[in-house]
Amino acid sequence: MNHTDDPYALTLEALEERVNRCTQCPLSETRTHVVFGEGNAQADLMLVGEGPGEVEDNTGHPFVGPAGHKLDDVLASVGISRAEIYITNVVKCRPPGNRVPAKKEMEACDPYLEAQIALINPKLIVTLGNTPTQWLVPGAGGITHIHGTFIPWRGGIEIVPMFHPSYLLRYPSRSKGSPKYLTWMDIKKVREWLDEHGRNRSSDDV
Ligand code: SF4
Repeated sequence: MNHTDDPYALTLEALEERVNRCTQCPLSETRTHVVFGEGNAQADLMLVGEGPGEVEDNTGHPFVGPAGHKLDDVLASVGISRAEIYITNVVKCRPPGNRVPAKKEMEACDPYLEAQIALINPKLIVTLGNTPTQWLVPGAGGITHIHGTFIPWRGGIEIVPMFHPSYLLRYPSRSKGSPKYLTWMDIKKVREWLDEHGRNRSSDDV
């Protein structure tokens, strides 16, 4: 593999240009837009979801549909804005009908996610739902058991699984023990961890 083929040798902008032209898996045939990811390229906190949904596919931006609005609410509850974080998905093209991406599709897209993580070098990665959690931490327990757990990962990065915001839309109760309540507890832990360990850089600082 020469450098022009190596996603790790690219800048984030060049990587995005590469991914926007990608046809490495069948999802390229049904997508409207590639959803590369966006946010603060020097973020302490990176969020990784499963894949783009319909609104994301139509716009090319991650987490901008109803689940994205719910995610914004969760982040805002502890004072975290999109300007502080970087957000992407395991696969950059929408699986038809929002099905779970196939293993081969995730394998094809994985070098891009790995390159994004290497370039952004976050301190904390929040995985949203089972798919990104199992992808980055193979063998991790189900999301209902391990959400809110800090899992030491590679290069000093910690991974914290949380419920996917679309799950919160399906279960609107705020009562103690509900997914919303548990997510609020989890995001508070993330906030506290960032306050203690983060570099606290916003896009205005870079
Ligand atoms: Fe390429 Fe990833 Fe899109 Fe598949 S999902 S076509 S690997 S960018």
